[in-house]
Amino acid sequence: MHWGLIGASTIASEHVIDAIRSQDGNSIKSVMSSSAKRGREYAAKHSIPESTSEIDQILRDPEISAVYISTTNEKHFPQAMAAIDAGKHVLCEKPLAMSVADAVTMVNAAKKKGVVFATNHHLRCAGSHIAIRELIQSGRLGEILSVRVFHAVYLPPHLQGWRINDPKAGGGVIPDVTVHDADTVRFHLDEDPVSVVAKAGTSGLGEGVEDSVMSIWSMPSGIMVQVHDSFTHIHAGTGFEVHGTEGSVTASNVMTQQPVGQIFVDDKSGNHPVHFSDHNLYVYALQHFCGAVSGFGKPAADGVDGVKSLAIALAVRSAAEKGESVEVDYGGI
Ligand code: NDP
Repeated sequence: MHWGLIGASTIASEHVIDAIRSQDGNSIKSVMSSSAKRGREYAAKHSIPESTSEIDQILRDPEISAVYISTTNEKHFPQAMAAIDAGKHVLCEKPLAMSVADAVTMVNAAKKKGVVFATNHHLRCAGSHIAIRELIQSGRLGEILSVRVFHAVYLPPHLQGWRINDPKAGGGVIPDVTVHDADTVRFHLDEDPVSVVAKAGTSGLGEGVEDSVMSIWSMPSGIMVQVHDSFTHIHAGTGFEVHGTEGSVTASNVMTQQPVGQIFVDDKSGNHPVHFSDHNLYVYALQHFCGAVSGFGKPAADGVDGVKSLAIALAVRSAAEKGESVEVDYGGI
């Protein structure tokens, strides 16, 4: 399958180009950048045969069957809608759109057109999170009482552009990081938060957008979820905890793009390390996407997953702005 990259982005260059090329029979034919010069340089650097500043050049190319959209967040909706309309399969970066209504429109359009549409939520692809989910599902933790997510990191300088100063491009830690936590919590608990409360603020990097947020989510089952996200915490490290009536899982360094981390389970028999696969998260996502295109299985995170993670993140932002509990609006999906 030939791919077109929509967006000459960092995430494509650091992870997704290699992940696409790792799949048998998959290659990247063209990259679109809003700047013809940057597109040419990006294509040359990554050995991509063609570049263009016109999305239509990719969408009109009958040899290209799939596109990967990794532009800034406000562009995902129009670009994905155009790609779907052209009959391309779409792997879209998170957050899918700037509003839940737009994200729902994307999912419905892809369904109607019969193309595969997926959201690039990498964390549920990690061996660490797959192992945590298996522990929850096995019943070893008993009835789940609470989840705590520690995702306060330091945004690397090369990513400190639109994320910290451009609300129109979808900047802020909530659309960047909370959206991933939302997907990860849903992946583990198989349920969607009903309402959230939150406080957000700036702590050194954000200019016109929040760079830190703490939120608490109410799950239909009564499980309590606590989430801490930030761009400004240099030494905090990341983690994910699940606490049940029979056991607790404590995972550290697992809210990351790398296949790393440590997991321990504590129960009445003591404290035990949990072993997990160290496969590449993005390769796993591409395996599932290509499988879905070939008619086998589903993408790791599909469009509905992307709508729901966005809905939760936007509810967190709204709750922080209003200073009150906000019900999550999933847009009827
Ligand atoms: P970048 O800032 O690297 O790229 C976004 C856009 O910015 C590009 O499409 C490009 O526009 C423009 N751009 C890139 N470099 C330059 C430059 N040197 N000068 C001027 N403009 C430039 O963003 P990221 O790769 O960090 O993020 C892109 C998307 O991917 C976002 O939606 C983000 O949320 C998501 N993401 C997802 C991750 C995941 O693990 N799922 C991880 C990181 C990001 P153009 O294409 O027009 O040249």
